Amino acid sequence: MTEVIATNETILVVGGGISGMTAALEAAETGKQVVLVEKRPYVGGRVTQLYKYFPKLCFPTCGLEINQRRAKMNPNLNIVTMAEVTDIKGEAGDYTATVKISPRYVNENCTACGDCAKAVEAEFDDEFNYNIGKRKGAYLPHRMAHPQRYVLDPAIIGSDDAQKAKDACKVNAIDLDMQEETIEFKAGAVIWATGWKPYDANKIQPYGYDRIANVITSVEFERMADPNGPTGGKLQRPSDGKEIKSVAFIQCAGSRDKNHLLHCSRICCMASLKQATYPADEVDISIYYIDIRAIDRFEDFYQTVKAKENVSFIKSKVASIVENKENGNPTLHGVDTEGYNRYANEHDLVVLAVGMEPSVDKASFPVEIVINEEGFIEPAPENGGVFAAGCSSDALDVNRAVQHATGAALRAIQVVNRVAATEG
Ligand SMILES: Cc1cc2nc3c(=O)[nH]c(=O)nc-3n(C[C@H](O)[C@H](O)[C@H](O)COP(=O)(O)OP(=O)(O)OC[C@H]3O[C@@H](n4cnc5c(N)ncnc54)[C@H](O)[C@@H]3O)c2cc1C
Ligand code: SF4
Repeated sequence: MTEVIATNETILVVGGGISGMTAALEAAETGKQVVLVEKRPYVGGRVTQLYKYFPKLCFPTCGLEINQRRAKMNPNLNIVTMAEVTDIKGEAGDYTATVKISPRYVNENCTACGDCAKAVEAEFDDEFNYNIGKRKGAYLPHRMAHPQRYVLDPAIIGSDDAQKAKDACKVNAIDLDMQEETIEFKAGAVIWATGWKPYDANKIQPYGYDRIANVITSVEFERMADPNGPTGGKLQRPSDGKEIKSVAFIQCAGSRDKNHLLHCSRICCMASLKQATYPADEVDISIYYIDIRAIDRFEDFYQTVKAKENVSFIKSKVASIVENKENGNPTLHGVDTEGYNRYANEHDLVVLAVGMEPSVDKASFPVEIVINEEGFIEPAPENGGVFAAGCSSDALDVNRAVQHATGAALRAIQVVNRVAATEG
């Protein structure tokens, strides 16, 4: 049974991405009791799936390692993974949260040796790699996962594979009798940090993501570029594994469009500029854009990428993509709005810079909260002691998400301090 000790001076953080982790650590390091509830089997969120960060092109692993070390050292922080908040009742200073915890089937004895994974046969699409490639039915979600503890896929429970995994484990870490649990605990303030998800590219019909193998999304390209990813860092075409010689990035794929997301996702321009640095200098790169949104300190990075000889910019909203059946190349059709020329340009690979939308649907929020037209949380007084952090409030880069999360931690601390002052 999962034990959570909490009072109405505890801060509940929902979502353990970079924003939730930041808010939780900032609050815990001031001495507050914090419970962080994360639905995945590990914390870190979507930045764990990025290869590099713009504009410095450094690796997210560095910041993740620091946060993991801070979390391990702090007894005030209790992280509950594979868990979702299903209900929050009450008011600022006095909330009761209901949390559903899914079984991991692996307990704290796990040393992450990997023997269970070797023993099982069943394989599943690898969600960490946006379903490029497979993972085993017993798996560590990614090499830096925190906690460093394996997971059994619920689909193998009751099969021979589950027993094989249990038999292979020398430290008795596999518990096939684990059950789903529902727990309830108190909290004085809530930080909502459930982040974002990529816009579903299948909905952008003219771009053919559902039918053209060599049309992929920007989040998939991150995984492909990562040497620890499914292709070992080789930038290759999904259709035939051929190394790419030309790649097109399509901006605003699903953003700033009345048929899809109305808002500008802000990050996609910077993400594509960064991704234009991933291939070797011999690879031709074309960026199809409406306007490049690189503000403040990002302008320099834009100018650096623009100066690269292998990168060209085509000012155009691509109208449609058609597959050349002979060679599998996607052909982009549209009008270049600088020269007003029609084009039909072939590339080896097309990357859709998909928009960012809130990960939790408006209808599924388990707490009364003010949400705007795009589904992001508004900073409204009616939210009481519930504060948004990071991308649950808007499409933000990591720097802005972390600053926002720090602000949310401060507001939550003020609420529980008021509780302490009244009760003390
Ligand atoms: C293609 C691409 C490239 C990018 N590259 C960069 C870059 O180079 N540099 C940069 O600064 N930014 C980059 N970004 C933006 C960056 O990914 C975000 O700023 C960052 O992920 C925000 O973190 P977050 O914690 O707010 O959200 P998330 O990373 O989405 O984390 C949210 C967490 O909440 C969890 N969660 C969701 N729902 C629930 C629930 N109901 N209950 C419990 N837990 C839940 C999720 O599992 C997740 O762990 C990029 C974005 C894209 C699309
Ligand atoms: S569950 Fe057991 S066998 Fe599997 S990684 Fe953990 S310790 Fe190793």
